[in-house]
This record gives sequence, C-alpha cells and structure tokens, in this order.
Amino acid sequence: MDCAPMRPWFPRWEVGGTCLAVDTDQGVVLVDTGVGLHDHEHPYWIVRLFALDFGLRRDPETTAVRQLARRGIAAGDVRHIVLTHLHFDHAGGLPDFPHAQIHVHRLEHEAFLRPRSWIELAYDRFDAAHDPAWRLYEQIDADWFGFGAIRLPFTPRLYLVPLFGHTRGHCGVAIQTGDGWIFQCGDALPLNAEFDVTPAWLNGIVLGPHGPRLEAFARAHPEVRLLAGHMRRSFFEVHLT
Ligand SMILES: [Zn+2]
Repeated sequence: MDCAPMRPWFPRWEVGGTCLAVDTDQGVVLVDTGVGLHDHEHPYWIVRLFALDFGLRRDPETTAVRQLARRGIAAGDVRHIVLTHLHFDHAGGLPDFPHAQIHVHRLEHEAFLRPRSWIELAYDRFDAAHDPAWRLYEQIDADWFGFGAIRLPFTPRLYLVPLFGHTRGHCGVAIQTGDGWIFQCGDALPLNAEFDVTPAWLNGIVLGPHGPRLEAFARAHPEVRLLAGHMRRSFFEVHLT
C-alpha cells in the first residue's frame, strides 16, 4: 500500500510511502504504517513542515487503517506492527492500531525518545502518545544472506536486519514469500531502490552507508525483491490490488 503519497516541490517526483500487510500465523502484520489519521487531521508542526516541503497529500483515505478497512481488515485485527524506523512518515499510523504491539530495534526506540541529530528530528512524539506495547530487539541471532539479522516471532519468516545510518536504529525487514523474499530496506535505499536516482554522496549523508552493499546484493540475489521506503507512484499503480 501507498500510505504516504507525496509530490515534492523539487524534483517533481510522484512518490508513495511503502507499507506492507503480511499474512502470518499471528494475523495481519503491518510493516511500516505510513502517515496516520492524526497527521491528516491535526498534524504536529514537524509533520506540517515536511508536508509542505514534500508535498504530502492530505487525504485520510490513504492511511493504512482506511485502506485495510476497504479490504475488510479492521484496526482491531492488526496486533503486530514491524517498523523500519520511527520517522513520522513510517510510524504515523501507529495510533490508528491501538491494540498492536510495535516491533522495532531498541536503538530506534531510544532515538525516538532522545533524538540527537538533524535527521532524528523527523520523529513525531504523538505517534506513540497512546502508549503502545513495545517489543524491542537488539541481539543478532540469525544470518540472512550474510546480513546479521534478528528473527521475529512470525511464520512465514520475518527478520529485522540492522541497517543503521539513516537513523540510529534503522532496520530493513526481510519477509519470506512463496518463492523468495521481499526485503523492505526502508530509508536505507534511494527512491524506488534505483541506485542512480540521487548522487552517492547525498545518499550517504541522508540514507546511511548501505547503498553500495545493497546494490551488489540486489544484483547477486534475483530471488530477493528489494523495496525502498519510498517508491515511485507508478510502482503502486502496478502492484495495488
Ligand atoms: Zn526516514
């Protein structure tokens, strides 16, 4: 789902915020939420600022909770949310699923509570004002294609894959599918997982250091589909059901 449609002033890309609903033995697991109803209805000043800058479309119907409802999935059915990181455009939908546990890296939770760099200012404390149940992880306990990974308690297999840099505790999320894997790399990857879309030096500053490794990984592993936290609008038009 695209749960954070944007049209930045420059360059004029039509961009969506990637959110996945994964069917597991624990019910639907959301991987990132996009922005939530409160971001559309009474946005925090940080969100208002970014919304202007990035041309965030103000439309509550694009939230995960409304999109899932249109598919017959009620907010109360979502008991687990896995997050790449806690920036408002990935975690803004948390209050819309008040019964969900939040699975996230411990360092990311710490950064959310005590931001200390400019990019960590894009947290919105109201995303956790409902005092959700946190499930915090930090111990690497698995190897996923050579990446240190943290197994999450779901079937099919899901892993948190630490890709620190964009924020202190930013992780990718690997999801086993019928015939391979989806690797939601969040904001460790440039737009649309296209590595030449922005200059490497800029990616290094904003997205962290993982671009070159992920680019080589994508070439070596066609059975793994890499997704970025922000994909071009055309991606969602092809993949939305
Ligand atoms: Zn981010």
